[in-house]
Amino acid sequence: MALAAVVFDLDYTLAVPQRDRQTLLDEAAAAAGVDGLERSAYLDVHGQHRATTTRTPIFDALLDDGDPETAARAYRNAVNDALAPVGDIPELLAELRTQYRVGLLTDGPVQAQQTKLETLGWENCFDGVVITGSLPAGKPDGRAFEAICADLGVTPEVTAYVGDHPDADIRGASAAGMVAVQVLTDRFERAPDADYYVERDRLAPQLREVLERHHYGR
Ligand SMILES: [Mg+2]
Repeated sequence: MALAAVVFDLDYTLAVPQRDRQTLLDEAAAAAGVDGLERSAYLDVHGQHRATTTRTPIFDALLDDGDPETAARAYRNAVNDALAPVGDIPELLAELRTQYRVGLLTDGPVQAQQTKLETLGWENCFDGVVITGSLPAGKPDGRAFEAICADLGVTPEVTAYVGDHPDADIRGASAAGMVAVQVLTDRFERAPDADYYVERDRLAPQLREVLERHHYGR
């Protein structure tokens, strides 16, 4: 079926942190004047607290002393500074927008994800952006995928979704009725639910190819 829209995941799909997350966490801890924070402890708390606007509630639960707001801000700055695009993304998006509606659907606190877009200079590169911190649930919940389709004014059946995570991105998009394109990295295996696979190192040419193939039924 012809496609009307292409929606992207952000983290590890279009942009990748160039320093490891523990290093970034260490910087946040130092800025907040507390002893080292373990990435595993951060992830535990992250799983229990759904931070909707900022990561302050996560650091609030994590820190015995120190200011959680300062830690959250320092972590956000460290993450943003370390983020690098996987190639010329504005060029790819601009090209896709000549043919499709182009959206972004990203999990995370609103402020954290919004400032990533600003740091990358991509605020105006999409026809629609949905950050799931503003919703009752994140990916793979169907409401996340419905929200971006509504924002773009398209139906899931004519929308391709491009992301790296086998569950949050690919199973979620597929269950929502979208065409699921998995971006392959060294982090995850191939997702069984994907309709197509592209290598992140060759994202632009391979994505153009699978979208054309699908669009024209080749
Ligand atoms: Mg991702």
